[in-house]
Amino acid sequence: MSNNALANAQLQVEQACKALELPNCVYEILKDTQRMIEITIPVHMDDGSLRTFKGYRAAHNTALGPAKGGIRIHPDTTGDDVKALAIWMTFKCAVTGTPYGGGKGGIVADPSKLSTRELEQLARGYVRGMHHYLGEKIDIPAPDVGSNSQIISWMVDEYCQIVGEQALGVFTGKPVELGGSLGRTEATGFGVSVIGRKIAQKKNMDLKDLTVAVQGFGNVGGFTVKHFESLGAKIVAVSDFDTEPFAIHHADGFSYDELIASGDDLRNYPGATEMLMDDFWSQKVDILIPAALANAIDVEIAQTMQASVILEGANGPVTPEADAVLDGKGITVVPDILANSGGVIVSYFEWVQNLGGYYWSEGDVANRQETAMSQAFDTIWETKENHQVSFRQAAYLNSIQKVADVMKLRGHY
Ligand code: NAD
Repeated sequence: MSNNALANAQLQVEQACKALELPNCVYEILKDTQRMIEITIPVHMDDGSLRTFKGYRAAHNTALGPAKGGIRIHPDTTGDDVKALAIWMTFKCAVTGTPYGGGKGGIVADPSKLSTRELEQLARGYVRGMHHYLGEKIDIPAPDVGSNSQIISWMVDEYCQIVGEQALGVFTGKPVELGGSLGRTEATGFGVSVIGRKIAQKKNMDLKDLTVAVQGFGNVGGFTVKHFESLGAKIVAVSDFDTEPFAIHHADGFSYDELIASGDDLRNYPGATEMLMDDFWSQKVDILIPAALANAIDVEIAQTMQASVILEGANGPVTPEADAVLDGKGITVVPDILANSGGVIVSYFEWVQNLGGYYWSEGDVANRQETAMSQAFDTIWETKENHQVSFRQAAYLNSIQKVADVMKLRGHY
């Protein structure tokens, strides 16, 4: 069960509904998505053949606003994963006061094996199949694993051509030249560092002595490294993936710029030593940040972990069983719906700017993001202390209560 992200998400919702003593019908509504669309996307390949790809879009709950969530393009993506990610989005938006419901999309494909033309056809085909269910006030996708601002640009263009008007706010994560927001690319990693600074303060950890390990050097992991480095913390270990996961260690700390300069293989970093993945997970660091995919930390790994804090940069990186083990060991796990909420917060700012047609400076965006995340952190910390529950339970208690209150006002139960 622990490898089924949907079962994990449902368990988290069920536990919070029970703790809040909400009527059972609230769990019945929240345990599944209110809408799930599955399409088949035909693509004319460069070799003249025709291939079809599965596409999904889920809207979990729209009590608080239009559905919002990225589109994942990955060969292992399943409908259940997409539903789980949509559920987490509902609570991520609620926890930070972002006026959206939860949504998520997926395309079962390996983008690295498609040519640029094939990828464009895939992106446009996804929108042709889904456009009835998308809209600035309906469901607003963004990039996720395997998608990026170029793919979103093709999707925006396809959508605008279909509806016959400029509707830039229907997608976020766009390039700045096409209505994107300054600060969006780095927002999730920057936000992870904002939460890292807050938790370090609470635990009386000095940022200058803080040791950090990051799993996954993509968008989230990369900018997490960059912003922790600028806080003065020492990034002593980084893990990534080529044909299999690998990790590198540097006792003096990695520099973001030099990691980028290492090119395709981080193992080229001068002075870095390779470490076994088992040693990566079990190392003694102040903060360990999983920023790759779901279910990275299972019970076996959790039993070996010695980090003081786990900050979830990825969505769902700790299985519920592993979560219980970490809790028992006194390791603080800062949940994904708070720790990586910077992306959706700045996506919301992008949407606001698109609807208003007025654009903010990068400093404005970062300040507003930091304020929103700091406030959410303080509220959840207070709930955690008052109810003597884990950080994750506190985040779910807080966000599910907000969603349930609005569902009640709307007469949904
Ligand atoms: P990405 O594709 O840019 O980066 C993922 C990185 O993880 C890649 O470098 C990949 O090589 C590495 N990786 C994959 N499997 C690994 C493994 N087993 N061990 C080590 N490294 C591995 O994706 P991203 O946008 O950085 O997203 C990462 C996670 O963060 C996902 O769970 C995503 O849903 C979540 N997230 C992303 C955003 C965002 O704004 N991009 C926002 C919130 C949450």
